Amino acid sequence: MHVLVEGNRIAAVQRGEAVHIGVSDHVIEGHGATLMPGLIESHAHLSFADAVISTDLGQIPPEEHTLITARHARTLLEHGFTSCVSAASAKPRLDLVVRNAIDAGDIPGPRLLAAGPELTVTSGLGDARLAHLHRESFAIVCDGADDFRRVAREMCREGVNTLKINPSGDTLLPSARSQHTVMTDAEVGAVCEVAQAHDLRVAAHARNAAAIKLCLRHGVKTIYHANFADAESIDLLEAQRDSVFVAPTLGATIALLERGPQFGRLRQPLDRAIAEEELDAGVDRMRTLKARGVRVLPGGDYGFAFNPNGENARDLEHFVKLLGFTALEAIAAATSQGGEMMGRGHELGQVRAGFLADLLLIDGDPLADIAILQDRRRLRAIMKDGVFYKAP
Ligand SMILES: [Zn+2]
Repeated sequence: MHVLVEGNRIAAVQRGEAVHIGVSDHVIEGHGATLMPGLIESHAHLSFADAVISTDLGQIPPEEHTLITARHARTLLEHGFTSCVSAASAKPRLDLVVRNAIDAGDIPGPRLLAAGPELTVTSGLGDARLAHLHRESFAIVCDGADDFRRVAREMCREGVNTLKINPSGDTLLPSARSQHTVMTDAEVGAVCEVAQAHDLRVAAHARNAAAIKLCLRHGVKTIYHANFADAESIDLLEAQRDSVFVAPTLGATIALLERGPQFGRLRQPLDRAIAEEELDAGVDRMRTLKARGVRVLPGGDYGFAFNPNGENARDLEHFVKLLGFTALEAIAAATSQGGEMMGRGHELGQVRAGFLADLLLIDGDPLADIAILQDRRRLRAIMKDGVFYKAP
């Protein structure tokens, strides 16, 4: 394959056995490497600092936290991720300041759709407070439609691309389990109304069927997790499959099961059983959604000690091993469909004339072994926007 790059775009693509990349006046020989589009992460948490528990994030002052977020942006690019959809920033301005610095060329990092913190209710996922104790994590607690509306507008004012909401509870959260739907119709509606007015997207942490239906009713297009989707919510997702994206974030649950105990997590057999049930349900539902033609994307909630930033390509292997994706389908989900999720399917995520020149040169064939994408030493070259971040 011969790819000619001009400026930040692919000017021409010619099929052929050997790989060549032409940039301005010189040609880079592929020497048997595989050329593919840059990877796209659908559920990034660049600011999550690879913390053990969520309240660790509340202990980091904004200045240090900005530097950590910038460092993780570079980490993702070093691992071949040239675009990221953020699924929440631990403080309101972390993602967007880093996004702006990347766009200005001041620091290396992927194209980033920035989010604010997760908007949650008292007792919901991200409300780590206890009576008399002030504890922050990755959420802003709102109660009532007016409160959600005000904070959503504040996030708009600061410049986020995505408003993240937590309508369902979560694994191992006694005050709001995954099966609980804790935001009201009016609260979800209020955030969606603000998003619509400002032309922003809404992404939802929605583990159960009622939360999924609530979100779809109000026009949420990004559904995270969806482990306990029921037949009706699966039908609704299928009906909206041209506009909706689902990212199960299996990577986080798998890593929690594998490595949680070494970080003091999942030490109780009951907790383990809950996490296992959630993983099994997620695998089952994603297989169904895939069969129904719904776009299911890799993206694994990386950003915790047991699941650190940089390991994001593990999710592609999970898709192949657990969800019945072929390697090509997993790569397409993490590239061309990722481009669609970025809202730029017409110019991002494919090696095609006219598209943005985000390219990887891989030592080996990821179609034969999807796991090689996890090894950054196999990334011979990483190009974003027509410029080599890593030259061959
Ligand atoms: Zn997340």
